[in-house]
Amino acid sequence: MTALTDPDAIVEITPSAGVQVARHGWRAKCLQRLVRMELPVPTSFAISADAVRAIAAGQTPDRQALAALIEREEGLVSVRPSAANPAWGGPGTVLNVGINNACHARLVESRGKKAADAIYLGFVQSYAIHVARLDPDMFSDCAGDLQTALRAYENETDEEFPQDPARQLAEVLRSMARAWDGPTARLLRQAKGAPSQAALGLIVQDMALAIGPGVTGSGSIQLVDSSTGMPRITGRFRGQTQGRAEREGTETLYLTRDPRGPSLEEAAPEVFADLIRFGVACRERLREEMQIEFAVSDSNLSIIDAVRVQRSSRASVRIAVSLAHDGIIPVAEAVTRVEPRALSDLLHYQVDPGAPRDLVAKGINASPGAATGMIVFTAAAAQAAEARGERCVLVRRETVPEDVRGMHAAVAVLTERGGMTSHAAVIARGIGLPCIVGVSGLSIDTRARTMQTGGRIFHEGEKITIDGTSGEVLAGEAEMLEPALDDSFTQLLEWADQHSSIRIRANADTPEDARTARMFNAQGIGLCRTEHMFFDDQRLPAMREMIFADKPEDRRLSLERLLPMQRSDFAALFEIMAGLPVTIRLFDPPLHEFLPHDREGMRELAESLDLPLSDVTRRVEALSEFNPMLGMRGVRLGITVPEIYDMQARAIFEATILASKNGDPVVPEIMIPLVSARREVELVKTRIDAVAAAVRNETRRDFTYRLGVMVETPRAALRAGDIAEHAAFLSFGTNDLTQMTYGLSRDDAGRFMGTYVGQGVFAEDPFHILDRDGVGELVAIGAERARCQSPGITISVCGEHGGNPESIAFCLRAGVNYVSCSPFRVPVARLAAAQESILMAQESPKTDPAAQS
Ligand code: PEP
Ligand code: MG
Repeated sequence: MTALTDPDAIVEITPSAGVQVARHGWRAKCLQRLVRMELPVPTSFAISADAVRAIAAGQTPDRQALAALIEREEGLVSVRPSAANPAWGGPGTVLNVGINNACHARLVESRGKKAADAIYLGFVQSYAIHVARLDPDMFSDCAGDLQTALRAYENETDEEFPQDPARQLAEVLRSMARAWDGPTARLLRQAKGAPSQAALGLIVQDMALAIGPGVTGSGSIQLVDSSTGMPRITGRFRGQTQGRAEREGTETLYLTRDPRGPSLEEAAPEVFADLIRFGVACRERLREEMQIEFAVSDSNLSIIDAVRVQRSSRASVRIAVSLAHDGIIPVAEAVTRVEPRALSDLLHYQVDPGAPRDLVAKGINASPGAATGMIVFTAAAAQAAEARGERCVLVRRETVPEDVRGMHAAVAVLTERGGMTSHAAVIARGIGLPCIVGVSGLSIDTRARTMQTGGRIFHEGEKITIDGTSGEVLAGEAEMLEPALDDSFTQLLEWADQHSSIRIRANADTPEDARTARMFNAQGIGLCRTEHMFFDDQRLPAMREMIFADKPEDRRLSLERLLPMQRSDFAALFEIMAGLPVTIRLFDPPLHEFLPHDREGMRELAESLDLPLSDVTRRVEALSEFNPMLGMRGVRLGITVPEIYDMQARAIFEATILASKNGDPVVPEIMIPLVSARREVELVKTRIDAVAAAVRNETRRDFTYRLGVMVETPRAALRAGDIAEHAAFLSFGTNDLTQMTYGLSRDDAGRFMGTYVGQGVFAEDPFHILDRDGVGELVAIGAERARCQSPGITISVCGEHGGNPESIAFCLRAGVNYVSCSPFRVPVARLAAAQESILMAQESPKTDPAAQS
């Protein structure tokens, strides 16, 4: 038996036929469902993917089999593609296969000459171009005349236009089967996720003729709006038209009654009523909003096909929620129906996908959303623009902590350098600011106040649009779509939380971040980066004074100035989080980040500290390091300059007492960064315990706290067993852990990441999606060793990966208790965590949290 003689090679689509998606494609299966619903679907046959492969390889179904497909009723069929997934596309549909001179003569009788000519001509054109591969111009230009087209065919091929319907069908099947294997078609579908071996099934369906007398034509209808997801009848109906081709003599009708012109509802009320009925039935039986393709022939309705309604992110949420509300799908299924990333489109302004774009550069899409503003090149200029009420885009080579205030003043950020976890990217995601980093080919001239890209020069003050969702920089202003945090969004996330087996916290440094985190229902703060609190104009002088202090005593005096400010920072966070856990990370960056980088800044510093300029420059030089990210930072600073951590611990405990007076007792979580050895934890723990004891004594108030360790060096991951002895929790800082595991600078890798990913060295940017094989193995080893030592220890991930759906899926399987990410990524994380939890519950029903409750 060959692929073509197999009994399943060609099956008529009846309610009980053995039609399978894997074998015959999604369209065949969908048609069978429509047939089972007793919709008026023309007789249809499914040709299996194996048979189509054989046809592509040169075999032909025997004449009898082909004749059975075509020589019935009017003797005309359409051939449509049916891949396993509708997104993979396929060759274009061919209509009216089987038409010849005899059939044409019959159609002249039944439908008139004009209709018969149009039907025949459509097929001759399509056959000549797609099957015989003749020059398309010759056949598009035959002025709508059938005889001219037939003559052109004869002249080009030296034979009469094929008159045997079975031969026509055999040729059409072969050309469609071969088109599927063409290199462009393969590339296109692989870009949409199709496997390299993706197969094509074909459908042969009796033609529902849509050219002829009476109300006759074809169209499509859906019952929801593709942009909003709200109920609305939309679609089109074109009289005297088959397929998508426009032709002379067609008349477009509104579907529903409309003051602007005639409608199908008025012209053929029964047809319209049936279409609505079928749309409702499809929603209920196929459990999905469907777009129905139909043909009307003298007021007789045929349903040709149905596909899932195309939808925007906003519509996908509303449709899933409404299907679950109406009891058509279970809540858990609604949660899995929305792509987590789609949610970030709802949180921010987006460039309208239908609007024109003047693209000038492309970089890494570091923080989603879009904004238009005038170009500024310094943080100070951004603040000045904000003060004037002007919207600006901060354009920098890369940002440093001193730029944070300028970033807050800007509506978007663009940097020439950087990657997913560089400074600009992390801060922008934290505050929900559209951001593009690592734009190769962008060159900034800060003196001339210009930026150049792709041969175009932009001056300060000119308008650009940053599309942080796609990574595209556009010249001028672009049309935007508004954010959509509506009731469906809230409902979907509530359901997501009910199905999630891990918690989602937010990385929040400021009261504003914390409020955003609460707005998105984060279940605590998983990382508060305290160093950002010192860049405030009022604090920076005290910070610098502390850095310049020679003796611990002097240092303590400067830190005493900072203490009340830190205390009020923490008290505000505790208050906003209202009893939810708050994890405060002790000071992490190298001290030189707080010092001025240019001569003018150093002169000002010398003045304010009352020191000679030479002392200041010497000190700044002494603090500079070749590799600051591997140098005196994190716990290393905590051990060598312990007064900083002492002050922070005291501020945390005093804020704990303050906040506990007004509400539930607060249990702060204190986290030590950049640990690589157990002894580091012991030393810091001893001092923090001593500060806690002192505060208890002084205030006569009791409190508890949890001490944790950030695992962000490979050694800490490998020694997690030892380290866990002194820690109530471990939080994997996967940004630094990725940097150190790969030996890849998180601030500079953006320059070559595109090339690396393009050439398949890395499957993805590892700062964006957690590298399961290397960094992931360290996380898994660390978690296992820590749990072996302390089974009850809390394990989390607080690097940027905590907001990435694929990485969250990995974390969940590695057994982490929570992930923490930028506040604006919390909704995406909540949905991704729920989806993976649901998947795991299906694999092993015992772990379903919803089933347990
Ligand atoms: C990390 O390294 O993953 C982390 C969360 O800390 P930071 O990004 O502040 O270095
Ligand atoms: Mg870190």
